[in-house]
Amino acid sequence: MSTARRYVFERGARASKFNSKRDAQQRRRDCWICRQCFRRYDFGKAKKSSPVCDGAVVQGAPARGGCGSSEFEHFPSSGEATYYLRLANFESLGAISGLQLHTRHPLLAPGPDGVDVVIGMFEIDFVYQRDGATVREDYKGSADPKDQDPLWLWKLRHYERQTGYTVTIVTN
Ligand SMILES: [Zn+2]
Repeated sequence: MSTARRYVFERGARASKFNSKRDAQQRRRDCWICRQCFRRYDFGKAKKSSPVCDGAVVQGAPARGGCGSSEFEHFPSSGEATYYLRLANFESLGAISGLQLHTRHPLLAPGPDGVDVVIGMFEIDFVYQRDGATVREDYKGSADPKDQDPLWLWKLRHYERQTGYTVTIVTN
């Protein structure tokens, strides 16, 4: 028996956004963080006006310094961006390693012919190594299960059952 898993993409399988109910109720603020110098840009619903890190960290502010990089990490909420900066700091201190953001994982179900079918994707905000173990975390505005989007919770159950891994909900 082959250990390699074969995937086929089912029509209509696509990623969706995983926002908790409370997240949706709150006014969401998009946030960008420079990958080079970790400057944080809060522009609310507006798109970042300059494609480079120019130090204008809120909309309409004058350019002030910045590293000139055009590589940014985007976060759908300022709370998630804050959590990322905390993890990035831990990584720079050597407390964690291999920090990956917004990783996507196929959710599988066996088809009638025994071949696994990709029925959707599950995105995990933060995956990293700590004390020799892989940590998987998803940032939410609230840790209360009642506040989570039912579809996201279903995907979470599917992912954890399929992989045997645990995803921890984190908040600030
Ligand atoms: Zn920068």
